[in-house]
Amino acid sequence: MLAGKAIHELHELLIKKEIRPQEIVEDIFKRIKQAEEKVKAYITLTEEMALKQAQEAENRLIKGENISFLTGIPLAIKDNICTNGIKTTCASKILADFIPPYDATVIKQLKAAGVVIIGKTNMDEFAMGSSTENSAIQITHNPWDLERVPGGSSGGSAAAVAADECIAALGSDTGGSIRQPASFCGVVGLKPTYGCVSRFGLVAFASSLDQIGPLTKDVTDAAILLTAIAGHDPNDSTSAPMKKEDYTQNLHKEVKKLRVGIVREAMIEGLASEVKTTVEHGIKVLSDLGAEVIEVSLPHLDYAVAVYYIIAPAEASSNLARYDGVKYGFRDKTAKNLFEMYCQTRSQGFGAEVKRRIMLGTYALSAGYYDAYYKKASQVRTLIKQDFLHAFEQCDFIITPVAPTPAFKIGEKVDDPLQMYLSDIFTIPINLAGLPAISLPAGLSKDGLPIGLQIIGPHFSEARLLQVAYQFEQALDFKEKPKLEED
Ligand code: GLN
Repeated sequence: MLAGKAIHELHELLIKKEIRPQEIVEDIFKRIKQAEEKVKAYITLTEEMALKQAQEAENRLIKGENISFLTGIPLAIKDNICTNGIKTTCASKILADFIPPYDATVIKQLKAAGVVIIGKTNMDEFAMGSSTENSAIQITHNPWDLERVPGGSSGGSAAAVAADECIAALGSDTGGSIRQPASFCGVVGLKPTYGCVSRFGLVAFASSLDQIGPLTKDVTDAAILLTAIAGHDPNDSTSAPMKKEDYTQNLHKEVKKLRVGIVREAMIEGLASEVKTTVEHGIKVLSDLGAEVIEVSLPHLDYAVAVYYIIAPAEASSNLARYDGVKYGFRDKTAKNLFEMYCQTRSQGFGAEVKRRIMLGTYALSAGYYDAYYKKASQVRTLIKQDFLHAFEQCDFIITPVAPTPAFKIGEKVDDPLQMYLSDIFTIPINLAGLPAISLPAGLSKDGLPIGLQIIGPHFSEARLLQVAYQFEQALDFKEKPKLEED
């Protein structure tokens, strides 16, 4: 089945002319027809456009011009990344009919590389959530166990990759939304350094934390996708002034004299024993490869979730002010005056979680409270970042779990937002510090659910981070796949 292959495998077949891009697209849509009813990973499918793009990719391959690793490769895109002429809903009623008149920079880059876009994936509304249950459109099911969540907020992208409903996908990560669903669905997820990938055209949730990144079947594919989307973008004022880099080039080179840090404070209450043993086994794999294991301390780790739930909602409350029923998206038509129009549009257009965040954020930013909440949180954020910088003086990379548990059941945490928030304890600090981190499949629980391991690197260490991840992947040789057919 072509749909089950990785980008680099398909690329080999495409350049040898053993297959045509159209065949991959056809195989993907065949797979979608079998699996989508159960998984519900997509909000929008773009079959007609995909076939057209496959034809264009074939023309390039025949001419031998402009060929990249991604030419003719079908990808899925999270529905908060703007795609010209294709609905971009953020899984919200307020943007249910929004069709962007432009492409996000990452989409432009992917199109230039010759990709085929299969569709837009489901997510928690405006990327607020950890289970995809906050989508106003549908709940996505975990392909490993359909009664469980795929994680979130990029749950549709992770589930689509795991179920072979696309070859790879893009997600976005504000507090873990690429890495946690990657962990729950047994795929690779990379959150790049803040500023490494352009945010132009990514619908903003919390602008100082958001990053776009790849969800893929293996580390090589993550390096391929990052190579295509990373680099400076003058349209994004927070984009780093960095040169284009080929992250695939040194992937296979051994990393020598590696020092990996394990975090003293990571053994939190609520950490499932299976997650603990899987991560310990992962650390052993790295030490067998010759890495020195060092204990490091992140003394302010405990404050990360609290800090995040001030900063992210504060930024969200400001970013989401634009959905007022005037500029774009849904508008309540029954209102009798302007105030009612704003009020009714936003009351009906936003879901409960989004409203909760807007209220939290507006409160934290209001006069008289700003210094006590937002300013204090920003100060503690700096301390958390300094903890990491200090730890990286002693080690090259830090290993932690991705999430405290494997995928939980649909409905298990929806009524308990605090429990849901606490499950991001290992991913949130990375966004606060602006660091790159990758989630790698590291084993299965006794119930057959995937468990991820997180490798965190210093700022802009993506090339080496991917090298270490590749070595880990080769040594562990995790080959399990979800058995969707038997469900
Ligand atoms: N789960 C976290 C939240 O609800 C992170 C989401 C994300 O990374 N977009 O905010």
